[in-house]
Amino acid sequence: MTDTYPTQPEASHFVNGAYVEDTAGAPLDVIYPATGEVIATLHEATPAIVEAALSAAEVAQKAWAALTGTERGRILRRAADLMRERNHPLSVLETRDTGKPYQETSVADATSGADALEYFGGLAGALTGEHIPLAGGDWAYTRREPLGVCVGIGAWNYPTQIACWKAAPALACGNAMVFKPSETTPLSALKVAEILHEAGLPPGLFNVVQGAGAVGAALVGDPRVAKVSLTGSVPTGRKVYAAAAEGIKNVTMELGGKSPLLIFDDADLDSAVSGAILGNFYSSGQVCSNGTRVFVQTGIKEPFLECLTARLESAVIGDPLEPETNFGPLVSARQIEIVEGYIAKAIEEGARLVTGGKRLNRNGFYLEPTVFADVTDDMTIAREEIFGPVMAVLDFETEEEAMARANATEFGLAAGVFTRDLTRAHRVVAGFEAGTCYINSYNDAPVEMPFGGSKLSGVGRENAKTAIEHYSQFKAVHVRMSPLEAPF
Ligand code: NAD
Repeated sequence: MTDTYPTQPEASHFVNGAYVEDTAGAPLDVIYPATGEVIATLHEATPAIVEAALSAAEVAQKAWAALTGTERGRILRRAADLMRERNHPLSVLETRDTGKPYQETSVADATSGADALEYFGGLAGALTGEHIPLAGGDWAYTRREPLGVCVGIGAWNYPTQIACWKAAPALACGNAMVFKPSETTPLSALKVAEILHEAGLPPGLFNVVQGAGAVGAALVGDPRVAKVSLTGSVPTGRKVYAAAAEGIKNVTMELGGKSPLLIFDDADLDSAVSGAILGNFYSSGQVCSNGTRVFVQTGIKEPFLECLTARLESAVIGDPLEPETNFGPLVSARQIEIVEGYIAKAIEEGARLVTGGKRLNRNGFYLEPTVFADVTDDMTIAREEIFGPVMAVLDFETEEEAMARANATEFGLAAGVFTRDLTRAHRVVAGFEAGTCYINSYNDAPVEMPFGGSKLSGVGRENAKTAIEHYSQFKAVHVRMSPLEAPF
């Protein structure tokens, strides 16, 4: 087994089954967030690379769709096995690309990608249409057909996972994909492409092209593209959704959030604190579904803050490649500046800084885990997505009040509740205006469970059987069993 991969890939793009380079594209430096050093230099895709990827995908898709689902699934399942075998080097690469601790990447990135490949590989052979009996012995049937060429566009927080969550259902349904990773973390998707091809994926079906928004826009606007799946922020989602609408394309939009986490007086304190930590500080807070508005019922507020502060003191912040490190840097210089701006604003608007708030005195983009208490609904940190390690604790008295405030947001990605009262737990989640909810837990994302948001947080769902609906379409066929009559 390879111990680690070189951070400089063979070439910037993976098109039609092979690495390709075009040095005419603008250089793209990849920075290791733990040190600020450049660890690779790639090139953005030129129009020639974009064209090569789209035409390869268009050609390859027809033959792929003509295979049985079982044949397609076998390749995806083989790729899942290869990803698991190579979990160590893939996780090291993911850590270098994103700065997330190896302790996380070794259990949440390639492993989650492998789960998606295995799950959708298993489903592929079972994808069917239905038989519909009609009057007079006539009948209809539906054929489940692929959409064609799909474009996937990724965010920088979970590069391997995002590539696999999009590629696995797309390929299972008989589509081809052109994937554009985030320009901040372009490395891992190339490894996903390599592995899929080693597992037997025919050339052209999963292509990776690098670049920033302009490359993404060129892909979305191409008339050969039938579907666009974006993971990114709401402002980007608006642009991509509008561009896709021009061509009446299918979309999946996995966008940002400002999710509520409700902690009632009767909650198990340690579990609730664990939920708040997982929902705010995993991946240094760079998780879309984070429960960043932590509503704590007043009876448990002081014990909650005490327990939380004590637990945060035991965070191991440091070199993300060290196995004991469990809190790493933010992804980029730009991101740490954005988050620092929110911290300054919170202080200015009167929130009480309980812990953290400062940069660490070391290289790289390290910011302390930060908690604000006495946050009110109108404060900027209670309204806007921060995407960093900043928790806002808000007080509440009654369930009714907490529910109204929890839902008073334009986002609707996730929501969670901690309580020992089961009836209340189910009543509360039924009332949440959010796509992905948790009871006495937070941020789990097993492939068997649908994931996605409502309101501004998105359209469509990833994972689970429901993702199939977003990568396939029905053709309906009416069959007459008796002679056909006409008025003349
Ligand atoms: P971003 O919106 O800046 O970029 C996302 C991707 O879109 C990048 O690959 C970018 O190059 C591309 N892009 C930008 N402009 C484009 C355009 N006009 N046309 C086509 N593509 C374009 O997001 P980010 O900063 O990389 O990621 C953070 C955001 O992603 C946060 O808002 C976070 O909540 C969200 N996110 C959501 C989920 C989810 O599943 N709901 C998961 C992870 C991250």
